[in-house]
Amino acid sequence: MHPTASLAGQTALVTGGGRGIGKAIALGLGDAGAEVVVNYSTSATAAEEVVRTIEASGGKAYALQSNVSVETEVDSLIKAILERSGRIDVLVNNAGITRDGLLMRMKIDDWQSVIDLNLTGIFLCCRAIARPMLKQKSGRIINITSVVGLMGNAGQANYAAAKAGVIGLTRTAAKELASRGITVNAVAPGFIATDMTKDLNTEAILKDIPLGTFGTQEQVAGVVRFLAGDPAAAYITGQVLQVDGGMVMA
Ligand code: NAP
Repeated sequence: MHPTASLAGQTALVTGGGRGIGKAIALGLGDAGAEVVVNYSTSATAAEEVVRTIEASGGKAYALQSNVSVETEVDSLIKAILERSGRIDVLVNNAGITRDGLLMRMKIDDWQSVIDLNLTGIFLCCRAIARPMLKQKSGRIINITSVVGLMGNAGQANYAAAKAGVIGLTRTAAKELASRGITVNAVAPGFIATDMTKDLNTEAILKDIPLGTFGTQEQVAGVVRFLAGDPAAAYITGQVLQVDGGMVMA
């Protein structure tokens, strides 16, 4: 655990925390002293491995299965955490999928499943956690969006629409919850090396990234950790922090 453990005594939920960026976020929050709830949908072994890694470095963590695109499962997930940990201080809405295809050929199922998880899933988690956070008069919510939600992307109408929606949801939640000291921000990664991006045409993409490389999961996790635990971040809300090597400058 980090010597200046800023999240000691706090509980953090990371959706999709067993793999990819979510795993790096879970490990980062564990290192900052939080008890981490590693949510997963299908990757039980990976999630348990993240739990063991946090515990091995002196931290606290447990894994909980839940499909966060389903209302009843989200409500049960939040209830289970409140029963076990008593509070939730940090929510990181990280779980996300892609189902790419050109607009004119996109199947309704591919549209719907991306909206259901990447947008409705975040709404469901924010809604379920709003009441307990309002009661405790504190909380930090961090939603993982994407630069694609700011700039659009050919072949990703569903994903871009969901990620743009997350930005509107973030700003609305920030306004609704601010009076009780709860901050709500979005982090917009550019291209980060994970399973989600492993099949992309790297050379073509790198041309559009001023810093000339893909980002790392740890770089995204570092920004989330700052928003979740740094005292300076208490005065940041309703913002979209881009971690994109300069891809989108506006
Ligand atoms: P990834 O490696 O494909 O991991 C996706 C994560 O989402 C997994 O942990 C997965 O858990 C979880 N998940 C999928 N369906 C779920 C469900 N129904 N309920 C709960 N969890 C579910 O993706 P990633 O690259 O780490 O992406 C993480 C987030 O960053 C996503 O929101 C993505 O849109 C965003 N992002 C990524 C990039 C990038 O370049 N990689 C760029 C911008 C934004 P299971 O395996 O258990 O299903």
